[in-house]
Amino acid sequence: MARAVAMKRREQATTGAAEPDRYSRQSRFWAIGRAGQDRLRAGRILVIGCGALGSAAMNLLARAGVGHITIVDRDFVELSNLQRQLLFDEADAAAGTPKAIAAARAVARINSEVEVRPFVADVTPTNVEQFVAQADVVLDGTDNFETRYLINDACVKLDIPWVYGGAIGSTGMSMTIVPRETACFRCLFPTPQPVGTMETCETAGVLAASVVMVAAIEWAEVVKLLVGDRANLSRGLTALDVWTNDYLHAEGTHRDPDCPCCAQRRFEYLDALVTSRTASLCGRDAIQVSPGQPHRVDLAELGRKLEATGPVASNDYLVRCLVEGHEMTVFADGRAIIKGTTDLSVARSLYARYVGT
Ligand SMILES: [Zn+2]
Repeated sequence: MARAVAMKRREQATTGAAEPDRYSRQSRFWAIGRAGQDRLRAGRILVIGCGALGSAAMNLLARAGVGHITIVDRDFVELSNLQRQLLFDEADAAAGTPKAIAAARAVARINSEVEVRPFVADVTPTNVEQFVAQADVVLDGTDNFETRYLINDACVKLDIPWVYGGAIGSTGMSMTIVPRETACFRCLFPTPQPVGTMETCETAGVLAASVVMVAAIEWAEVVKLLVGDRANLSRGLTALDVWTNDYLHAEGTHRDPDCPCCAQRRFEYLDALVTSRTASLCGRDAIQVSPGQPHRVDLAELGRKLEATGPVASNDYLVRCLVEGHEMTVFADGRAIIKGTTDLSVARSLYARYVGT
């Protein structure tokens, strides 16, 4: 008997099949079942941005047995992330590991059956469609509206559903966008807020509780989409405040008949092929500078060059040094994150001086 069990286990290990009871509490749930669990295993999700929301949602999705997870994130782990970014630990912060890589390692430890593909990259008009086209569902883990408009354009164009989520302070919001069925992100937010008028994690802080609640809603929406239970999708905008106990669900958010994106099919963010070359990073007192065209940087050579300016730290994915009092981190795709400034021109000129144009 014991031998038969051992053989069965070996068989499962070689075929990659799940332990029979790994997902039993989930597949026993009426809307999932064995068939739903199989759909989750076959499911492909794209997580754009792997900060607080992305890592909390991904943690749960990996545990749920979603079979294929692609992660795209442009940043690296820091100590101030650990209060709310559930996939990372002190070792990741000390090593400055890119979040996509650290998240992929964590997901592999949580569920070795999940195929996880990490990309250390910025999502731009040039690459967003390639990423989105391979996904069944896209999960928003970003911290900025510019990228959300881009995700919205790509998803509406390619007819792929996506789940918007955002959290700041004690508040959070979420909305599920199913192209041709629901309002799109731009129906609700036609134009970006003027720069500097929005609260950021830097000014308002962000609580782990609001993040985890929004991530939980995003998880449920992704799972409903993957198992095919569209009837129970959240239709409209959900807003919550974990501190003041306000929970709002705006049912029936209507499509804007003049929406440039989903009605007129003008994909203005996707078509803006020249992206802004600089972006301030939410909650970071830091600026990202991107090269006009992505190109591979020889990190070893750059590291040697920068040693003239001071101590250089590096890992397989980035080089970091101190230039003129600012910590500068350069990635292999040519992007740099420059800390200690919110001045775009300061960041651009440091980049030009030490990395090149
Ligand atoms: Zn729309």
